[in-house]
Amino acid sequence: MTGNLLDLAPKAAAAAIAALVEGQGWPRYRATQILRRLWVAPIARWDDATELPGAIRRLLGAEYPLARLAVARREVSSDGTVKTLWRLDDGEAIESVWIPSGQRRTLCISSQAGCALGCRFCATGRMGFRRDLTAAEIALQVRELVLDDPARKPTNVVFMGMGEPLLNWPSVDVALSILNDPDGFGIGARHITVSTVGILPGMAALRARPEQFRLAISLHAADDVTRLELMPIEKKYHLAEVLAAAKTFGRRVTFEYVMIAGKNDGDRDADRLARLARPLGAHLNLLPLHPGGAPGLSPSSPSRIRAFAERLRAAGIEAVVRRSRGLDINAACGQLYVESEAKRRPARATPAG
Ligand code: SAH
Ligand code: SF4
Repeated sequence: MTGNLLDLAPKAAAAAIAALVEGQGWPRYRATQILRRLWVAPIARWDDATELPGAIRRLLGAEYPLARLAVARREVSSDGTVKTLWRLDDGEAIESVWIPSGQRRTLCISSQAGCALGCRFCATGRMGFRRDLTAAEIALQVRELVLDDPARKPTNVVFMGMGEPLLNWPSVDVALSILNDPDGFGIGARHITVSTVGILPGMAALRARPEQFRLAISLHAADDVTRLELMPIEKKYHLAEVLAAAKTFGRRVTFEYVMIAGKNDGDRDADRLARLARPLGAHLNLLPLHPGGAPGLSPSSPSRIRAFAERLRAAGIEAVVRRSRGLDINAACGQLYVESEAKRRPARATPAG
């Protein structure tokens, strides 16, 4: 048997390893040692697992090689944010952004190469869809950082990189287990956030999991006409249905709202938004538009964003204005890709303005 143990949820990997250990007639405690090396104490190659005899290391190396992601490009912002463009085995590229903030280290990961949904303000959307990531490719974005420096291990993970996670549920489902399981990275479910435009079947699947994973909904508009203008997905999953699904989610959700000058940042938008958010007890994250991904759109002014947030708070809504991190390295997801792949694949990527 051969395979990629990193593509399995820890429980399934444990079962596969137990079967291998038994089949080979190795002592049973070897199974625990092997499992630990996947996520808990990761190694770059089986040869580095010096607690295992050479014969076991050689067999694992030949039949269960440990997959890696190659760093295609890395940029460090003056505020400590680290952005990595990873090269996948088939030449595709994806991004992760590591954001330190006090005791917290948040890693923003990708779930797809590209994205099919084409939101107007998003650099990834403008690349189009390339392919789904495997569970291993999602989880390796964390593993590679830990291999590099265990002190970088994230305390929080957000699926806010490239792609729509709930359109790649089979891989995201397994990746969530790897992130959360004590035999995986052991990150608490409340510290793992899946961000979606509101893919209804995916929201139902996430809700069916027993763990308290967090859900963020990319709203970006408080009425369906404006939303349709910004997000083509509104044609398929309407605002009202997405809000209804959020209501039945059973846990408090966060709304994400990119502030775009003259599009969705008026007082009337704030009032409508307050009416939508209040019955859900939803928390609002206001994000200044990152201009790189959005030709023809401009960010709301800081004073407009402040006034918008104040108006929401006056209406009893918890609204937080997110600081734009890593501005000097184009850290809004999709932007590093657009910048470097536009040169590599001129026919496919559209450079941001
Ligand atoms: N597809 C999912 C998750 C990835 S996008 C989703 O859309 O929710 C993650 C977040 O990045 C979204 O909230 C999106 O609105 C935000 N984003 C995309 N382009 C942006 C830009 N140009 N400026 C600021 N935020 C942006
Ligand atoms: Fe896709 Fe999210 Fe970007 Fe929209 S905002 S195009 S859903 S990655």
